[in-house]
Formats: sequence, structure tokens, C-alpha cells
Amino acid sequence: LTVLGIESSCDDTGAALVRAGEGAPEVLAPEILANVVAGQTELHAAFGGVVPEIAARAHAERLDLVVEQALARAGLTLGDLDAIAVTAGPGLIGGVLSGVMMAKGLSAATGLPLVGVNHLAGHALTPRLTDGIEFPYLMLLVSGGHCQFLRVEGPESFTRLGGTIDDAPGEAFDKCAKLLGLPQPGGPAVEAEARQGDPKRFAFPRPLLDRPGCDLSFSGLKTALMRARDALVAEQGGLTRQDRADLCAGFQAAIADTLAEKSRRALTASPGVTAFAVAGGVAANATLRARLTEVAGDLPFVAPPLSLCTDNAAMIAWAGIERLRLGHADDLTLGARPRWPLDPSAVPLIGSGK
Ligand code: ATP
Ligand code: FE
Repeated sequence: LTVLGIESSCDDTGAALVRAGEGAPEVLAPEILANVVAGQTELHAAFGGVVPEIAARAHAERLDLVVEQALARAGLTLGDLDAIAVTAGPGLIGGVLSGVMMAKGLSAATGLPLVGVNHLAGHALTPRLTDGIEFPYLMLLVSGGHCQFLRVEGPESFTRLGGTIDDAPGEAFDKCAKLLGLPQPGGPAVEAEARQGDPKRFAFPRPLLDRPGCDLSFSGLKTALMRARDALVAEQGGLTRQDRADLCAGFQAAIADTLAEKSRRALTASPGVTAFAVAGGVAANATLRARLTEVAGDLPFVAPPLSLCTDNAAMIAWAGIERLRLGHADDLTLGARPRWPLDPSAVPLIGSGK
């Protein structure tokens, strides 16, 4: 099977080609033939966050180009494909719609099957693409917008064991950087500062560790950081380089500690798993990776390369292949969904969510 994947749910426009056979991934070693990502960081930089309308327009303008580039890099034409997979949600609805329209157009023009993919399933199935691990496994998804523990039982079968009740860790890193005058995205900047810092100088809270279960909270951490910063400024009139490094180190340690302890609990709550895997941009953090490797113990710890941890279309093509192998596909009635929990039973239906 050779599948084109299309991703446009946030601020990355992606197209990728992935080839795999009919059997299990550990036997087949699926191959990424091309993986093109056009980021939009510079378009949103002036606004301090992703502007949905700007993102949607940029996706609509760039989708043709990234699909053409992916095909050219793989040395393929549309005639060589077996299906078209596209992110159908969750995400910024204008962007998701742009991708779904593109995929429908290609499907209508070529007669190729259309496969709608849940973006989070794309992240959660990536360790099978990169490392061929078998179901069931435990997945910690930690990104700018998400933080949850999933027991992955099959391509369409996920049980949510817990997750953040407020901010995602990536969001927390980004806010930390903002508060300390460091560049965005905040994660890599905070990690670099933290290398020179003392994680013990400031005692940041480890939220929800006193409560049972795998839920997490990161918004209090941001308030604690702001207080520590303001106290230093009041005392000394500003922050020294060392203050900044120590604040970053303490902040990062609090996030890593919390995620490590909750991972321990999630592993206890999911017996029989074949591996502990992570995905999402925050999984790039070396301190966090070291702590999670420790927690995994004898269990294989799988962290895909960064380019496949952050938003990309190869994971969408792969998730499409996994669905196709179950005999599942969609047709031109495929819709775009702003909200789409992987485990609907675990998410209370509040507000407009369906
Ligand atoms: P989502 O995929 O949930 O919609 P997103 O696209 O913002 O959200 P990703 O692209 O997966 O998320 O990851 C980006 C986030 O990862 C940013 O918040 C960034 O600060 C964080 N990040 C990147 N590198 C690091 C690092 N080394 N340490 C900590 N955080 C990091
Ligand atoms: Fe994502």
C-alpha cells in the first residue's frame, strides 16, 4: 500500500508518502518515501499565538505545493497511490477543512479511496511506524495542545487513563519562556537555559501528586513561576542570568517529576503492555526522556525522532494505512471535526463538544 497523507490541523501544512505491506509493522518495516512540512511560525509570530484565519488561508495556499513536492521527492505520481489519508480533526476547523477539501478533490479526480484520520491517532500510532511495536502499548502524548495517557489497543481502539485538567506541558513551557523573556517556541529555550541552572533553588509545586489517578495540572506552575520572578525583581530590581537559568531548571524539573510520577501510575494501571511510548513536541526534552526511560524500567521506552513527534503528514499516512488494513475507509461525505476525542467514553460532554 502506498498512501498520501495530508495534515493541516494547526500551523504546519504537511504532505507525505508512506509505503507498507499488508502484514504487521514489525514484519514489514513501513517506509517513509517523502515527508514535507511547511511551517507557519513566521506568519503568526507578531500575534503571540496561532491565528486560525491566517493559518487556514496559508494551508489553502500551500497544500497543492506540499503535495506536489512530496510526490516529486518520492518520484511518484498520483497514479502510483492506493489511497489518500487526511486529518479530519481535531484541530482548528478552517485548517482541517482546507486539508479535507484538498483530499476530497484528489479522491474525486483520481477515484482513489479516501481515509479520514484522527490527528491524535496519528501521533499515538507513530511508534508503530518508527519502531514497529505491537498492541497494546502505553502512550504519553505531550505537546503544545495535548497531554494524555492512552492505552493503545488497536488502530481505532484507545483507552484514556488520564490527562491534563488545564494547560498542556508545551503550553506551560511556552508561557515560562514568555515570562522570562526567552524566545518562542519556549520548550527548547527553557531547556537550554535549564542546563546552566540549579533545579533545587526554587521549589515549584508538583500539582495533583497528592491525588490518586493519572490526571495532571500545569496552570499553577505558571503562577508559581510568575511569583518567584516578581519576588526576585522586587528584591534585586531584575533577574541575573543565573536566576533565569535556576528558574528554568526548577520549572522543567517540576514538569518532568510530575510526568514521571503519573507515568508510573499509568503503567501500573495498564498491565500487559508491550512498550511505553511518547509523542508530541515536549517528548524532545532530554530531561523528561531520561526520567521516563527510568520509569519504563525493563519495558522498551520508545521515543520517535523529533520530526515525527511534532505535527507531520507521515503519521497521518501511516494511520490511514492502519485503518485501510482494517478494511475501513471513508467517502466524499467525510466531515471535518474541531473536537474528536480518541476515547469518547472518557471525556465528559461539556459545552458544544459532541
Ligand atoms: P498539538 O500537536 O497538540 O496540536 P502543537 O502542534 O503545538 O500541539 P507540537 O508541535 O507537538 O505541538 O509541539 C510543540 C510544543 O513542544 C511547543 O509547546 C514547544 O515549546 C514544545 N517543545 C519543543 N521542544 C521542546 C523541548 N526540548 N522541551 C520542552 N518542550 C518542547
Ligand atoms: Fe499534533
